[in-house]
Amino acid sequence: MEKIYNYINGDLVKPKEDAWLENYNPAIGEVYSFIPDSDGQDVDSAYKAAQEAFPLWSKKTLKERSDVLQKIADLIIKNLDELSLAESIDNGKPLALAKKVDIPRAATNMSFFATAILHENSDTHQMNQLAINYTLRKPIGVVGCISPWNLPLYLFTWKIAPALAAGNTVVAKPSEVTPMTAYLFSKICQEAGLPKGVLNIVHGLGPKVGEPITKHANIKAISFTGGTETGRKIAAIAAPMFKKLSLELGGKNPNIVFADCDLDKAVSTSVLSSFSNQGQICLCGSRIFIERKIYQDFKNKFLDKVQNLTIGDPLENTTKIGALVSNDHMQKVLNHIQIANDDGGVLLSGGKQYAPEGRCENGYFVEPTVFEGLSYNCATNQEEIFGPVVTLTPFDNEDEVINYANSTKYGLSATVWTKDLNKANRMSHLLQSGIVWVNCWLVRDLRTPFGGVKESGVGREGGAYALNFFTETTNVCISYD
Ligand code: NDP
Repeated sequence: MEKIYNYINGDLVKPKEDAWLENYNPAIGEVYSFIPDSDGQDVDSAYKAAQEAFPLWSKKTLKERSDVLQKIADLIIKNLDELSLAESIDNGKPLALAKKVDIPRAATNMSFFATAILHENSDTHQMNQLAINYTLRKPIGVVGCISPWNLPLYLFTWKIAPALAAGNTVVAKPSEVTPMTAYLFSKICQEAGLPKGVLNIVHGLGPKVGEPITKHANIKAISFTGGTETGRKIAAIAAPMFKKLSLELGGKNPNIVFADCDLDKAVSTSVLSSFSNQGQICLCGSRIFIERKIYQDFKNKFLDKVQNLTIGDPLENTTKIGALVSNDHMQKVLNHIQIANDDGGVLLSGGKQYAPEGRCENGYFVEPTVFEGLSYNCATNQEEIFGPVVTLTPFDNEDEVINYANSTKYGLSATVWTKDLNKANRMSHLLQSGIVWVNCWLVRDLRTPFGGVKESGVGREGGAYALNFFTETTNVCISYD
């Protein structure tokens, strides 16, 4: 069976203890490869390689750094089919989705930051007759990047691209649940000629690999995407060490549908924002609030589309709903469905595990599930499920829906459907959310600030926000005298 290796100092290497973890294909429920069960010793080796690589990498010209990162982007596209298949097998997501979204976006992340550094400017502040200040941006040194399983290569590259572009060297940990494309990525880095030690990838468990990265005295910045509780643990370690911290955490996003919207567009986009990637996107809108006047209409049209979603083998072209990422995660989602039932929710669609016929009969599938009749403050409407489960709730006015929308501890994204621009602006001001989409969902301009408020995170990724995070500033004040 295939083994995945760590990528340290430019080489593909075994973990020091030669210990291995099983890696599952969630669509068939079987182990299909082994990944390193690394520990602090492997993190130390990775750190050492990164530290040695830093002086040369940070002193390369912007053009030299840009060229290597662009080459990596080109190789991702060249290997689109292989990477998409690997992502689908490792994660359970439909192959068509990996091919259309995950892998192209990973390439775009690399090329976006490869070119962004060529077009940057920095501030100057003039003091008449006296002095001029300019802002110098310097790479931090060795930085840590920790990413989750839901959009594996997409989110992995979203962190390491700005870190490397800004001149840092990196110790990175992908999710242990979906390590395959990060492994293939290390081979791409070798082929692209990324100097050894500039990027180091250590595979393994959160507590055994992620924690040593977080605790490392000389890894000065941590960029983390994952669950809120893991983010809290990381902050508890890193904050007293005065590390720079970027935390992209969980969400429980409202999708607000006003009666004056384009109903057909709201319905079809809501199906995507509910169930894309089996609802395992931090930006999915799992709480759908519908103005009462159109509640029945929306509900009928929405259920009609949901019941037509094809669920099953992720490798089939027609599949819209693939497998959940693991058995553990499936059990967690099924438990949430049970809680929604116990709390008096009315099940409108789905609600069960699903066993497709054929090779995927033992896979981790859950039907797209829709509830109504639950209060806005019950567990189902407050806790992140991160699966194919949504609720429908009617509302009568803006104040009421703002209260519902802002009632959770999260504040990542929100969607508003209305043709009234004034209403859209009012809502955008009042929603406690890092991102508001009006009449659309998941439309992304990589220059914009990306991140959450409240327990959805600290800091922003994207464009200059990410490059600022991965640099330290020095103000240089030069006297005119
Ligand atoms: P986790 O928080 O469980 O894991 C994220 C990463 O952290 C994994 O690589 C994990 O390793 C690692 N990790 C786990 N424990 C520790 C630790 N003690 N110290 C350091 N690292 C650790 O999240 P999931 O992978 O389950 O991802 C789902 C979550 O991610 C959801 O809450 C979702 O909302 C959030 N998310 C947020 C996004 C955003 O942009 N705001 C985007 C995408 C997802 P291991 O895999 O071994 O456990």
